[in-house]
Amino acid sequence: MAGLNFNFDNSYSRLPANFYAKIKPTAVSSPNIIFFNKSLASSLGLDFETVSQAQLAKIFSGNEAAAGAENLAMAYAGHQFGHFVPQLGDGRAILLGEIIDPTGKRHDLQLKGAGRTPYSRNGDGRAALGPVIRELIVSEAMHALGVPTTRALAAVSTGEMVLRESAQPGAILARVGASHIRIGTFQYFAARGDQTAIRALADYATHRHYPEFVEVEPPYLGLLERVIDAQAQLVATWMQIGFIHGVMNTDNMTISGETIDFGPCAFMDQFESAKVYSSIDRNGRYAFSNQPDIALWNLTRLAESLLPLLGLDQATATSEAEKLLQSFSSRYEAYWLSGLRQKLGLTIEEPGDLKLAQDFFVYLEQVGGDFTNSFRELSSLLSETRETSKPHILASSAGGAKWLEHWSLRIDREPRSKDDCQKSMLRANPAYIPRNHLIERAIRAAVDQNDFSKMSELMSVLSEPYRLREGLEPFQLPPNPNEIVHKTFCGT
Ligand code: AMP
Ligand code: MG
Repeated sequence: MAGLNFNFDNSYSRLPANFYAKIKPTAVSSPNIIFFNKSLASSLGLDFETVSQAQLAKIFSGNEAAAGAENLAMAYAGHQFGHFVPQLGDGRAILLGEIIDPTGKRHDLQLKGAGRTPYSRNGDGRAALGPVIRELIVSEAMHALGVPTTRALAAVSTGEMVLRESAQPGAILARVGASHIRIGTFQYFAARGDQTAIRALADYATHRHYPEFVEVEPPYLGLLERVIDAQAQLVATWMQIGFIHGVMNTDNMTISGETIDFGPCAFMDQFESAKVYSSIDRNGRYAFSNQPDIALWNLTRLAESLLPLLGLDQATATSEAEKLLQSFSSRYEAYWLSGLRQKLGLTIEEPGDLKLAQDFFVYLEQVGGDFTNSFRELSSLLSETRETSKPHILASSAGGAKWLEHWSLRIDREPRSKDDCQKSMLRANPAYIPRNHLIERAIRAAVDQNDFSKMSELMSVLSEPYRLREGLEPFQLPPNPNEIVHKTFCGT
């Protein structure tokens, strides 16, 4: 069947055998396609126009082998909530292969929930429909927001139940990512003292993600530097949109710099710097404001894994790595500030901008403003009809009112017209984010009524997060008190 050509080239399966376990998906009883991402498929060069829904369901459930697939589960380790677990690995995700897209770029295609693997430990290798829907809505929304992320190519319901706290309908997510190499993948071999493997992995990761650093000496510091930079940028982007990952374990942090493993993640409604949603994050380790520090903590674990490769004595290797790790904070701050300047309508750089941006959040928290809407509403203060627009929420506190005056004076020093400032703010501040209560509604309709229309409608709104459209006001509103989601669950 010519229509099912994935154009696979499976480089990971050519790495040494201790990198993975070759394992095929376990067939499910009655797979049904519940989501198929046509635009992603076409950008990957997959021509599935003539392929039936039934055929797609077979392929993306793993019931039928895709041509050229070389199924494997990757080995990795990881620090979970600060505790090292030497053996994790893909317990319920199975790589089908690496798609080479029409531009030559390589993408992993993985089925999450495809059955047990040698790394499943006590798990069933399956995924429940609710968490699959959450991941597909949020990952696609992140992409539309411009955040590096794994993406959702397809999802199927399996026709089987999985046992969690209660019995839940099962589902499988076909996700696509630049790769699934994690900090924990390096830790897996570091924990075993297998320097040959770490070197092979580091070479592979450098070639795959940072090929321009292949020739740079010493080679592995270049890789570390790139990952530090990519993660500084990624986490800065999260912090600009109010995203809380929820489980920033080292096995959930990629070398590519993409967001991965959407478990109990959430976007904030009302801004609270120490906000935690995840039901399993009892000590707030992965609270919103902790995310940059945690990223650095995780990157330090990557650095430790790479130290033996540097070919330097231990003291020199450590000091070289430390220098790079110390650069995380300034990189992070530069990315964060540059994003905040855009969100606040600023183009020129002034020394006071950092404090202006930080103070915005201080007052936003004081007045209990909505993270997303407060930025949009700021931009409306710049319009010609300013007298008629309602006061900004910050105006309800003395400090906030002062901040608004400072910001207004700062905007006056911009070389552009207010109109242009406003336009650029509207391009940098989303109108629509995947709010928890909206996700919850979509999940409930799907799980309780087998109705996927709410999911599709929400995804369509979120596919253009910056373009305000008439009739979509309900998607902008924070939840009613009775719909506020206080806790999110992994559901694994
Ligand atoms: P996560 O919390 O989803 O990042 O997963 C942490 C570890 O648990 C990874 O090694 C997963 O593969 C594994 N895992 C999570 N859920 C399951 C499951 N249902 N069956 C088997 N392994 C799982
Ligand atoms: Mg994970």
